[in-house]
Amino acid sequence: MSVTAVTGSASGIGAAVCQQLRAAGHTVIGIDRHQAEVIADLSSSEGRANAAEQVIALAQGKLDGLVCCAGLGVTAPSSSLVVSVNYFGSTELIELLSPALKKGTKPAITIIGSVAASQQAADPHPMIDLMLSNDEQAARALADELGQPHIAYAASKYALTVHCRRLAVKTGSTGIRLNIVAPGAVETPLHEASKNDPRFGEAVRNFIAPIGRNGQPSEIADAVSFLQSPQAAFVHGSIIYVDGGMDAMMRNGSF
Ligand code: NAD
Repeated sequence: MSVTAVTGSASGIGAAVCQQLRAAGHTVIGIDRHQAEVIADLSSSEGRANAAEQVIALAQGKLDGLVCCAGLGVTAPSSSLVVSVNYFGSTELIELLSPALKKGTKPAITIIGSVAASQQAADPHPMIDLMLSNDEQAARALADELGQPHIAYAASKYALTVHCRRLAVKTGSTGIRLNIVAPGAVETPLHEASKNDPRFGEAVRNFIAPIGRNGQPSEIADAVSFLQSPQAAFVHGSIIYVDGGMDAMMRNGSF
């Protein structure tokens, strides 16, 4: 049976992914700051190395799947933390776990991006280049200097999506599939905190998808479960929007 590691497993989308993968027969290794098989802080290189070491030990060196859900929203304590967790918390962990994934059976990685990333495509922020050039210190410094967590959030998800699409081209021949799920507004503690934030709450509450409601974590997990399954064997480097039509609403003249 598949052994799959899931970051952000203690809450929201990550918890729903764990539930579905376990129901489908995967052995799941949850990674989070609390209530997980692997307790680790993905905001630093040390924490990511600690997470990878524990996962590799639990998986006995061979991993079949990785789902990166851990993330912080606009109410995070700082913009630099958003950059470190959302971008480097996924990209560095992928790098550290790739040797174990290469030994896995039909290995697959799914990353949780965001529909917010599409908005950055029209107006890319310099923070994105710093993330893509793997300069965590400079990207963090710029994020804090700007002090705009919504821009740090969208930039982190845009850079993560670009990084993963480029990586998918490189890793195709290694047999590791890699895809991105881009959710719209999903009812989780992260979204609830954003709705109640005095700076962003009104915009978040008014951002209604064409389908007329927010998503549930299980609806994002449905797409992740598909991408991690043999039914998605030819899906690689793709972005699947699970957003009730938000991306179509914002960019219906391009794709
Ligand atoms: P959530 O807050 O319910 O869950 C996030 C999880 O990540 C938590 O369990 C938290 O402890 C963990 N986490 C945060 N920082 C961490 C760290 N330093 N180390 C280890 N774990 C850490 O949020 P969610 O809404 O389920 O978000 C999951 C993912 O989905 C995030 O990447 C988020 O950006 C993305 N997303 C969410 C929405 C939405 O509307 N909820 C929309 C688009 C994208």
